[in-house]
Amino acid sequence: MPRVQGVTLSLRRLRVRGVFRIAYGSWREAETLYARVELSDGTVGWGEAAPAPRVTGEYPEAGLAAGRMAAGKLIGVDVERLGELLDRLTVLLRGYPAARAAIANALLDAYARLHGAPLCDLVGGCRGMGGSETLVTVSLGEPWEMAERASELVSRGFRMLKVKLGGPVGLDVERVRAVREAVGEGVVVTVDANQAWSHWDALRALEELEKLGVVLVEQPLPAHDLEALAKLSSVSPVPIAVDESVLTLRDLVALHRLGFRGYVNIKVSRVGGVDVAARMGIVARELGLETMTGCMLESSLAIAAALHASSVYKPSVLDLDAPLLLEEDPAGCRVYAEPPRLAEPRGPGVGCEPRLAV
Ligand SMILES: [Mg+2]
Repeated sequence: MPRVQGVTLSLRRLRVRGVFRIAYGSWREAETLYARVELSDGTVGWGEAAPAPRVTGEYPEAGLAAGRMAAGKLIGVDVERLGELLDRLTVLLRGYPAARAAIANALLDAYARLHGAPLCDLVGGCRGMGGSETLVTVSLGEPWEMAERASELVSRGFRMLKVKLGGPVGLDVERVRAVREAVGEGVVVTVDANQAWSHWDALRALEELEKLGVVLVEQPLPAHDLEALAKLSSVSPVPIAVDESVLTLRDLVALHRLGFRGYVNIKVSRVGGVDVAARMGIVARELGLETMTGCMLESSLAIAAALHASSVYKPSVLDLDAPLLLEEDPAGCRVYAEPPRLAEPRGPGVGCEPRLAV
């Protein structure tokens, strides 16, 4: 059977439309990691993931270096020993989830292509992806700027917004009020505080945000404070989602044990690959949690993989707008039927021949 013949990794900078600003930083460029796996019969697979210190815990250059070292340990292995290859990546790339995700996704893509199967079939079974419209991000800014941006998005057909917040709470409430006034009642408004609030801030904010019709509040508290997040989720008038708090399945189970209820935002880059994401989605559902699929600032190849993972656990919310926030999309995978509607994932593999030279 074919063996793993080559694994190539490269880091690319992608220009962002305008500036992407959230609670703890702003970006004019995104950095994303592409992996290309070649098998000895010529089959090629592709993967992408975006390393980010505040989310995946890795600096991009560190992810690239770690990924290259681990990649060398896969060469020559029979690809039919796929489970063993994935386990090896887990061990070698502990603490580098985006590096693992890029390589694991490429390996899975190659294996799925070899067998003519769609990627989702390989990681739990394709069941269709749940919600079909993506949220779209309104970057952090002055209330008037955010209202203007939200109106523009709604005029382009987007009906579900993710409004980035960052404190102080009074200003955050003004931001959401300005957005709500600009877009009217019919638009779905979710917010993401990206860890910016204290417990008391959060209690104050949530009460006001509920009055403004906000339906979901993501990562209101610092990532490490699982107990406070669990507590907040049981008293909040608005459902809570965790994002940065969940790097591993263990984090998810710990949150559940502490009594967390609400949504888990599953990001392929943050959890270490499409195989881990699919498993996490299934476990979350079995624990009675709601799931959503999110993304980093990454191109359409990563989004295509996220759609395949989603097809396994059918999240109720899709937050897969990154290619719409970029000036350029070097992968060129078709992931939207027509924005904001996402395309159904299809095979073989991840269903995309990216136009990349890696
Ligand atoms: Mg988030």
